[in-house]
Amino acid sequence: EEEWVRRSEKLSIIGQLAAGVAHEIRNPLTALKGFIQLLQAKNTPYTEIMLEELDRINSIVNEFMTIAKPQALTYTACDLKPLLESVIQFMQPQALLCNVDIRLETEGAVRPISCEPNQIKQVLINLVKNAIEAMFSGGVVTVTLDGTDEEWAVVRITDEGEGIPEDKLPQLGEPFFSTKSMGTGLGLMVCQRIVEAHKGTLSIASMVGQGTTVTIVLPYHR
Ligand code: ADP
Ligand code: MG
Repeated sequence: EEEWVRRSEKLSIIGQLAAGVAHEIRNPLTALKGFIQLLQAKNTPYTEIMLEELDRINSIVNEFMTIAKPQALTYTACDLKPLLESVIQFMQPQALLCNVDIRLETEGAVRPISCEPNQIKQVLINLVKNAIEAMFSGGVVTVTLDGTDEEWAVVRITDEGEGIPEDKLPQLGEPFFSTKSMGTGLGLMVCQRIVEAHKGTLSIASMVGQGTTVTIVLPYHR
């Protein structure tokens, strides 16, 4: 079993760059989409592909936009359990489609954490999505909310998927590293960045053929 914890000074520079680039790309992207939708009325098969590719660029830009923002956020005391429940509900359609059962387990008493709820939601959505995508023939994703530690709230997301080869572990969280044909390779980087902004940590333990556990540790609100 491999344990991987990522330290990332490089990410703040990437974030600053991303802010500018993402912003500049967004307007022409929206304009292009409008024109292609107009063309679609003429019914050429290529407009479908063009729109798909535009959506792909759009999701990359959106993920970069999240990286760009963390400074201006307001942190509030927030309960993780309802947040996890809403994420699980949000992921239900994709889970059903992939034959995946998402279970929520709680250990100990979890106190509120200090967070920007939408950002923590985005982290959890990215991680549950990765867990579902790792299980080609379905299975169980277990989300564990662990309040047994005095100082930290712990969330574990465990899947029964393909796992991650040892030599790939150092590359996780690097921008654009993806083993998926339709992947952006930005999800884990965004997660890492948001968790760090919350003064928490994200670590990954994996075994090929058995599955992966991603653990996020977040400080309690005080
Ligand atoms: P994407 O999902 O778009 O590929 P991510 O940054 O979310 O980008 O993930 C990067 C890569 O890390 C994935 O392509 C996959 O190879 C690997 N990975 C992430 N989560 C898991 C998981 N739960 N099980 C197996 N591999 C994973
Ligand atoms: Mg992903």
